Amino acid sequence: MPEGPLCNLLALCECPGTMWEGSRLRLPCGVRVRFLYDPQGWCALGIISFIWAYNTVFIPSLVIMPMYHDNRLPLATPVFYFLMSSLTVVCLYLSVTTNPGTVPLDIQPSAVEAADWTVCKVCQIRRPPRSHHCRRCQQCVRKMDHHCPWINNCVGEENHWLFMQLLYYTLILVSLSIALAALHLYYSPPCSYCNPGIFPFSYTRPLLWFTCGQGVFFFPAAIGLVFGQTFNIILDRTTLENLADPYFRSGVPSPRAIHEAFSDICGTKNVFCWLWPLRRRRAITAQAGYSYYRHM
Ligand SMILES: [Zn+2]
Ligand SMILES: [Zn+2]
Repeated sequence: MPEGPLCNLLALCECPGTMWEGSRLRLPCGVRVRFLYDPQGWCALGIISFIWAYNTVFIPSLVIMPMYHDNRLPLATPVFYFLMSSLTVVCLYLSVTTNPGTVPLDIQPSAVEAADWTVCKVCQIRRPPRSHHCRRCQQCVRKMDHHCPWINNCVGEENHWLFMQLLYYTLILVSLSIALAALHLYYSPPCSYCNPGIFPFSYTRPLLWFTCGQGVFFFPAAIGLVFGQTFNIILDRTTLENLADPYFRSGVPSPRAIHEAFSDICGTKNVFCWLWPLRRRRAITAQAGYSYYRHM
């Protein structure tokens, strides 16, 4: 059980049926979801959840719907915006709650695999190649890319595809929000039904300036992550492997074909499923000498 000054937070909130079971949170209804006990991760996750909620409320109510109402935007604009917003929050929830690929404590390699497996110095368990120990999650994770505080979870073999979807949809949503907010601030068209005496229309400009301000931080971060992660996937390298060997001293990996690389990450060769989060991932390429699913 977690310990610390915040360990009774949920009890203080009068949620007696809620408790942590390792890295999972048991809710009063009995449902268990993966949710790490990490207050720093909660803060980071809370910030991006707030930004998502802020833009999902204010961009449509201040910009999209008034302009659509006055026939300045086609119906496709609000439909596309709400679709991107919904997909972003679904990917965020799934990235947070999906097991990234925990190495079971009792897993045993076959005789063929044993030579490539290593022993974790912390857990003292045998683990497949490319596994790493995460000190925040306190477990070994298969093909661990990095621990991401923004999703309060590791990014590993089982949720990397969800993390990539989250990055792509976040980039689209942030770009769209900044563009619409800037368009409104610059163009500032008169709105026929916006009552300037009521909130939020009484604070339209400061509310939209805040969207542009947070976009200055999140847009470069999203662009950098999208291109960096896509590049890594094509080279079949993880962020941790890049940090351990930034100058490719162990050899420059030959780039994979984009279809092969993303089929491997997403667990399907069907291109139309690569950006759809509501499905199960199935490994389709057994790496040399190792297939996790033989142990399941
Ligand atoms: Zn470990
Ligand atoms: Zn972790």
